[in-house]
Amino acid sequence: MKKYDVIIVGAGPAGMTAGIFASRRELKTLIVTDDIGGQMLSTTNIENYPGFKKIEALELVKRLEDHVRHFGVEIVRDVVTGVKQTGEKEFTVFSKKNKYKSKAVILAFGKSPRALGVPGEKEFSGKGVSYCANCDGPMFKKMPVAVVGGGNSAFESAHYMAKIASKVYLIHRRNEFRAFESLVKQVKKLGVEFILNTEVKEMKGDKFLKSLVLEDVNTHKRRELQVSGVFIEIGSEVKSEIIKDLVKLDESNHVVIDDKCQTFYPNSNKIRPGVFAAGDITSVPFKQIIISAGEGAKAALQAYNYIHDIETKGIVADWSTQH
Ligand code: NAP
Repeated sequence: MKKYDVIIVGAGPAGMTAGIFASRRELKTLIVTDDIGGQMLSTTNIENYPGFKKIEALELVKRLEDHVRHFGVEIVRDVVTGVKQTGEKEFTVFSKKNKYKSKAVILAFGKSPRALGVPGEKEFSGKGVSYCANCDGPMFKKMPVAVVGGGNSAFESAHYMAKIASKVYLIHRRNEFRAFESLVKQVKKLGVEFILNTEVKEMKGDKFLKSLVLEDVNTHKRRELQVSGVFIEIGSEVKSEIIKDLVKLDESNHVVIDDKCQTFYPNSNKIRPGVFAAGDITSVPFKQIIISAGEGAKAALQAYNYIHDIETKGIVADWSTQH
């Protein structure tokens, strides 16, 4: 089994920036990730990343991936199922297909789309149910689709799908939106039909999704809406279950870190040497691409310090007290 200096879990802006900084410090670096881009995949244009007045999210993802690969970082597409300390100076990252060993780990797997949790959702996931219009939208060319949610993500998806699908419904549980007013206006102009004060109760179909069972929140009256696709855009959540025995989490399941992206042992204020975290998975405020990227850089530089010290001075146990 190949052994790495550092394994980064996740390839959003935090993970990819950590990869660039780690490899430039000549650390043998592996990124294990189920997607490349993270939450950037579910947005359209980015207008606040320094150096770009406006850049398509997918273009920024592509540039970041090119940059990471340019410096020789290995990227493996796989779902990480656990991270364990398996030696004084060794961690093992377990994934669905394999396992990998390293001296240090950077947790940067961000947030995952929140699921509705209704019958049929899991069954038709990938067969009509999607959490990413940018990724899956083109499969629904000239077909009727629905978008669920009332935030910017839902409206961006509806905006995008209005140019692809034959009909777009926007289903929201209230009659007020969190999305920017300007975006709401644009989406209205594109002919998207709003179905408000309504919840999706079930997803039905045979091989593929065929319809949604909707319920009016006031009258509790139910009806079926025929659609070939549904995009769930109801926010995101940290899925930190797989690392709950490795590092300290806060009450909303974010990884608690210090100002050098160092983590702590579970339920403790003792720094966990060798495990670093960056980006939306952490308790750091303001979830922005540039902030995740900066934190990723910081995590990689501190991982370098850690690896340098354990190799040149041989210390691990008391390492955290000296930094
Ligand atoms: P969000 O702003 O939290 O909106 C989530 C929406 O989903 C809300 O309308 C919420 O309804 C609804 N919702 C949540 N749980 C639900 C459930 N179980 N059933 C039905 N509906 C549910 O999430 P987001 O749209 O993903 O955006 C996340 C952040 O990224 C926000 O700060 C957003 O502004 C930002 N963002 C910015 C841009 C941009 O600047 N262009 C683009 C995308 C996202 P309620 O309103 O009733 O709670």
